[in-house]
Amino acid sequence: MSESFDIAIVGSGLAGSALACAIIAGAAAQSTPLRIALIDARSLMGSLPACDEGINDFDSRVSALTVASQALLTDIGVWPAIAEQRISAFKKMQVWDGEGTGEVSFDAADVRAPVLGHIVENRVTVAALINHLKSSPYVHSFNDQAVAHLRLSENTTETSEIELEDGTVIHSQLVVAADGANSPLREMAGFQVREWDYEHDALVCTVAVEKSHQQTAWQRFTSYGPLAFLPLTVKNSDKHYCSIVWSQTRDQTAAAMAMDDADFCAALSQAFEHRLGRVECCSERNSFPLQQRHAVDYVKPGFALIADAAHSIHPLAGQGINLGFADVKALSECILAAHKRGQSVGDLAMLKRYQRQRKGDNLAMMAAVEGFKRLFAPIPLPLRWLRNAGMSGLQQQAKLKNRIIKYAMGII
Ligand SMILES: Cc1cc2nc3c(=O)[nH]c(=O)nc-3n(C[C@H](O)[C@H](O)[C@H](O)COP(=O)(O)OP(=O)(O)OC[C@H]3O[C@@H](n4cnc5c(N)ncnc54)[C@H](O)[C@@H]3O)c2cc1C
Repeated sequence: MSESFDIAIVGSGLAGSALACAIIAGAAAQSTPLRIALIDARSLMGSLPACDEGINDFDSRVSALTVASQALLTDIGVWPAIAEQRISAFKKMQVWDGEGTGEVSFDAADVRAPVLGHIVENRVTVAALINHLKSSPYVHSFNDQAVAHLRLSENTTETSEIELEDGTVIHSQLVVAADGANSPLREMAGFQVREWDYEHDALVCTVAVEKSHQQTAWQRFTSYGPLAFLPLTVKNSDKHYCSIVWSQTRDQTAAAMAMDDADFCAALSQAFEHRLGRVECCSERNSFPLQQRHAVDYVKPGFALIADAAHSIHPLAGQGINLGFADVKALSECILAAHKRGQSVGDLAMLKRYQRQRKGDNLAMMAAVEGFKRLFAPIPLPLRWLRNAGMSGLQQQAKLKNRIIKYAMGII
């Protein structure tokens, strides 16, 4: 079987499905539809999950979505469905040095914003995006189908060809790889990548805590790695829940994964200096290897990388998919402008415009996150004193702090 589309998006996770939504929303406004093939190796979710109020119902994968990401999701028409399901606003961030006295707090009120962002379970966001796409006659989903072969066109007069595992062949002017950090498509297309392994894993799970999380994202830094407690809000419940991201060496993570619930909760509570009291009711635990990757180029004729397929960063600043959504916004705008001009959506000059818009910003954020990560690597005592003095000094610098808040919110 062979089918033709304007655009083939491989990967219908957060980035790929958001890109499809952004393109159909823009093309509808131009009254000139673009046909999209949305391909995923997994089965797409049929409907929004009905979130109950139990801890076991939480997805342990959550993302801290910035105000900028919220704006994109609002523009493409999916934020109301996400907000209706389950989101947790956070208004403050509390960051401290677990091996010293340095401590900094950030508050949305300081920049006259109602919130710093929202913690949203990944499955809630993906399901809202996929549900939104279901009503579009211009998006055809290929589920449970990994890409077996890719043949890229040499120029924009030809189409590229994707062959799925079941033999289906898809022709399109543009192929977008949104297939995640290990991107098989990126490899098939022969992109060069700069990468290094942190030799750390991130352990994620959901816990109940004794004290109110105060709508605050908490993060304790140590030379082993950061530990984050992200606030979760459950309607009509007086329990306090948090989503945990605990980055440690591979051995430490393996040991934490192997503990029984009681030992794990005790270790977690201690690692968090008991700031929110007793930790209990652990959900299932999962762990992910942490690597920094950045593709040297994001585009070729008729081909583009977005989100984790183009760049993946340490989760300590909660910026991964926020950078991915910024890619989605930039690429969809470039595609729609080319389409309006009657240009091919695989045009290299147009795709390079997308790369120019995004690569510098992504690099800047990656460098900032890397700098922060290295600041907390094991360092001699005098440098640790300096680090503590620096954090305490920053706490007094209102202007600098406000700039950092706005940068993290994606609004400068
Ligand atoms: C512990 C942890 C915490 C994080 N916290 C945050 C946070 O707070 N804020 C934030 O912004 N980011 C965060 N991130 C990063 C964020 O999770 C990623 O940036 C995001 O999931 C990337 O989305 P994506 O759509 O690019 O890729 P993915 O979500 O990985 O989706 C890729 C899709 O491609 C499909 N696929 C793969 N291979 C193929 C193939 N061959 N053929 C067809 N389909 C294929 C997969 O099935 C999948 O559906 C965190 C990451 C980690 C590890």
